[in-house]
Amino acid sequence: MTTHYYPFGKDAVMADDAGEPLTIRYGVRSDIGLVREGNEDAVYAGGRLFVVADGMGGHAHGEVASAAAVEALLPLDTQVPGDELLSALEQAVLRAGSTLHDMVEADSSLSGMGTTLTALLWSGSRLGLVHIGDSRAYRVRDGEVSQLTHDHTLVQSLLDDGEITEDEVATHPKRMMLLRALDGEHNCAPDLELLQARAGDRYLLCSDGLHGVASPDDVSRVLLEVPHPDQAVADLVELAIDGGAPDNVTCIVADVVPAAKTLPFPASPEPADA
Ligand code: MN
Repeated sequence: MTTHYYPFGKDAVMADDAGEPLTIRYGVRSDIGLVREGNEDAVYAGGRLFVVADGMGGHAHGEVASAAAVEALLPLDTQVPGDELLSALEQAVLRAGSTLHDMVEADSSLSGMGTTLTALLWSGSRLGLVHIGDSRAYRVRDGEVSQLTHDHTLVQSLLDDGEITEDEVATHPKRMMLLRALDGEHNCAPDLELLQARAGDRYLLCSDGLHGVASPDDVSRVLLEVPHPDQAVADLVELAIDGGAPDNVTCIVADVVPAAKTLPFPASPEPADA
């Protein structure tokens, strides 16, 4: 089992719209899980940009697609004006789609690869959310955990239409089927939403290796009870491992904190590749 550790223990500086400087403190982990032979998830956490992409496609091409999608968003990890967040995200997704398209054109063995993409881009106290597929974003605010994204899956649409119940989702034979993914072949409109961040908010981005395995109650308990984001992502990955981790699992936990109240970070845990 390989656990990837990413640089953490730094506060990302957030600009200040409302007179109160805010920073983002985050933790990131991506784990291959217990069954898969490779990690097809890709993740990025920078000063302003946070991305989770879950690649799919046979013969390890999923990791090509997820990495290409993340790479297409990287230029956004800079100062993007608040009123341009959504257009910048939308443009980046178009760029990612055409990159994937060109890659498949150049190498037909890549045909069928695709990726989910769920990302948050901060500017001041605003954040843009872009979403395609079944990775998820959640927000914790005032002690409540809410899901910000809507899965682009067959089971979610059946659920929305009242054709199946929540209990039937876990055992549905086509529960893995995506209705929308970024693949460069199909016209793919992402969901876009502009949000207002508040001091005290906590955000989670994760691949389905977490929420498809761990119960919503367990995920909420970790989000509500584990104060430090590094520990929170470690505990979330542990939930997936405890559940058999049939898939790669990737989590970013990002806390919005008043800049003046940041405390020294505790000692970093030792990387434990085993
Ligand atoms: Mn997955």
